[in-house]
Amino acid sequence: MIAVSMPPLSGFPPALVRRLVIKIGSALLVDPAGQVRVDWLRTLVADVAARKSAGQQVIIVSSGAIALGARRLKLPKGGRGSLEDAQAAAATGQIALSQCWASLLDECGITAAQMLVTLDDLENRRRYLNASATLERLMTLGVVPVVNENDSVATAEIRFGDNDRLAARIGQAARADAVVLLSDVDGLYTANPHVDADAMLIETIERIDARIAAMADGGSASGMGSGGMTSKIEAARIATGAGAHLAIISGKVDAPLSHWTNGGKGSIFLAAPAKRARKGWLAGRLTVSGRIIVDAGAERALGQGNSLLPAGVASVEGVFARGDVVDIMTPDGRTIARGLSEYDSEEAARIAGKRSEDIAVLLGHLPRSVLVHRDHMAMV
Ligand code: GLU
Repeated sequence: MIAVSMPPLSGFPPALVRRLVIKIGSALLVDPAGQVRVDWLRTLVADVAARKSAGQQVIIVSSGAIALGARRLKLPKGGRGSLEDAQAAAATGQIALSQCWASLLDECGITAAQMLVTLDDLENRRRYLNASATLERLMTLGVVPVVNENDSVATAEIRFGDNDRLAARIGQAARADAVVLLSDVDGLYTANPHVDADAMLIETIERIDARIAAMADGGSASGMGSGGMTSKIEAARIATGAGAHLAIISGKVDAPLSHWTNGGKGSIFLAAPAKRARKGWLAGRLTVSGRIIVDAGAERALGQGNSLLPAGVASVEGVFARGDVVDIMTPDGRTIARGLSEYDSEEAARIAGKRSEDIAVLLGHLPRSVLVHRDHMAMV
């Protein structure tokens, strides 16, 4: 008999993963008739209770508000036909969803807490640190936070839209060791397993390169949630960049975490070596205010850990203020770094390509010598 050795991280055991974020997609939580799948959820909550008893701290990121609310309000297109519909559905569904989580967790003697956050709450550094402190306190109090996007107030342009990336950002804010996405697929395949019989599951992903990114097919298979494989890979990029492992496993079985622990399938994206927290926050941001296009010399200098000097800048795009987050890109559109600009966009455009000694004359005041300081820059 051939012994099959399981990777030690499989199942994210409490001994290796002290703090875990579990994300549950809409199609798992809500049945086609619009009811919460309470029996299944009870098996998941039992999994959570077992992990908590074993010393693991758990944060839940729960979708399902829009799906649940849309059925209750009888809205077309699953409530996603317009922003107003989605917001009304979310407001209606969220209250039912939280009641459900609170009572099921309570059955197992666990206190639940609710946190509704917007993309802005996590992109604004002060609010991010606040959310982070709240999560930390809830963890030390032994509470299980149930998190969702505050869909009823988020605007169309400024929202996560999918809870995969929200889960990764929450993992980062909570300094979690790992994030697990419970999904209607059981991992990342080399091709779409529904249409290609030769598609193979990839168990461990050490680095998200172009080959891995190309395996994503976009779109949600269930049509209920909004995340597809693309958003899962983006979530993996955020989580692993922040030093957390991320797994995709199937939630289509009862007690999905025990099932995974006992040899069930799954894909694990391994955490990158931990970056400094501030740099991780920068790299994981989803929105930037502008772009600074640099030449090959500047690209090399940044790669060697140097700050960005105005001399290496080819052009500036977008409108940003001093201290805003900008992407630093090559002329062919590749993002190489992200950082806080020391100048606003108008001044940055004026000093682009200029040597530091000419800048004082140009601006009429003593300039800061760098455009983006290396301490406020993360390579991506
Ligand atoms: N926040 C949305 C909801 O609760 C779900 C987003 C998603 O589909 O991932 O319905």
